[in-house]
Amino acid sequence: MEPILLLAHTEADGTLAKPALEALGAALSLGGELNVGLVGAEVQPAANQISGAGAKRILGVAGEAFSQPRYATDAAAAEAICRAAGAGIVLAPSTSRWSRALPGVAYRLGGRVDTHSTGLELRNGAPAVTRWFYRQRMEAVLSREQRPWVVLLDPGCFAAWSGPAGTATVENVPVEAPPTRTTVTGVQAPKADEQTIRPDAKLLFVAGAGWTKKQADGAIHGREAETLILGFLRTTKSSLGGSKSLVDASGEGEAVLGFMTHLNQIGQTGSTPRHRKGLSTCCHGEEPHVVGWRFVNERRAINLDPNCGWARGKADVVYVADAFEVMRHVNQLLGA
Ligand SMILES: Cc1cc2nc3c(=O)[nH]c(=O)nc-3n(C[C@H](O)[C@H](O)[C@H](O)COP(=O)(O)OP(=O)(O)OC[C@H]3O[C@@H](n4cnc5c(N)ncnc54)[C@H](O)[C@@H]3O)c2cc1C
Repeated sequence: MEPILLLAHTEADGTLAKPALEALGAALSLGGELNVGLVGAEVQPAANQISGAGAKRILGVAGEAFSQPRYATDAAAAEAICRAAGAGIVLAPSTSRWSRALPGVAYRLGGRVDTHSTGLELRNGAPAVTRWFYRQRMEAVLSREQRPWVVLLDPGCFAAWSGPAGTATVENVPVEAPPTRTTVTGVQAPKADEQTIRPDAKLLFVAGAGWTKKQADGAIHGREAETLILGFLRTTKSSLGGSKSLVDASGEGEAVLGFMTHLNQIGQTGSTPRHRKGLSTCCHGEEPHVVGWRFVNERRAINLDPNCGWARGKADVVYVADAFEVMRHVNQLLGA
């Protein structure tokens, strides 16, 4: 097995987040020599965190210029580390930061890149990467002869490495920060208790456009819909998904669910989450939406329409019922 370079960027506190530890676990599963490259404002805490992983070398690019996600600085740092390590196989977590910078780095190095890899194994002594195509409809296993081969590994697909922290030696790779046009002036993030996307949750709760449609009494009950959905999410700590119709309506400023954004959209043009169970409410279950449920194996739906898409073999259980009534009752049972 040829040497592997694991590339990771640190978080604000200088440590590595779960996607990086998952990529480290994946790299170790291949066996062979492992080197690690770290980028961030400071990298020593991350190096100490993974000191027990058995990396031969830990290379670092640290400094204020490398603290923020930005193509120019991230690509310069990653390129310098790849050249210093001389690795043929470069593995990295599919974070938004690396997904933006590493394809360009592969190009600069004359190599190749594969993104959104969901599996990694050794075949005939060489890495083989699993990847889905056409929005999770086709799966392929690829290997490549070109080097360096940069592979971005999707979060949630590999067991995260864990081990005791220690003290590691970091080889500093000198990089002159390139001129930048992007200045990060701050971070706008929802308050922790308003965070609705929880990739590690057991249950995915999906809201469809029905929540914002006229109900049997001829009126729209947007406020009650918000209260019911948020009450359920807060007590169960489920993750929130939305149908395209609903997130589009939210984006167009209609008086709908205030906490629903395009990031919540599940489906062909949305995301493909990996929760164990899913509950779809007021959502018709159209094919382009259900494509996003590819990896959700236990599915239930609540819909007024007995002929909705879910009832046509797409869910294990369909409650033909009013979702307002059902969720009111469920929340009562949960004490929400
Ligand atoms: C190229 C392409 C890509 C697309 N990509 C996506 C995608 O990524 N994700 C996606 O979601 N869609 C996608 N779509 C759109 C998709 O085809 C549907 O239009 C969309 O999913 C419908 O959303 P919906 O089910 O929430 O709304 P609707 O179709 O309006 O359904 C609302 C449902 O709510 C039910 N309902 C109403 N009131 C209640 C109540 N009180 N209790 C219970 N049920 C109730 C109704 O019976 C109805 O079934 C795509 C379409 C195309 C053409």
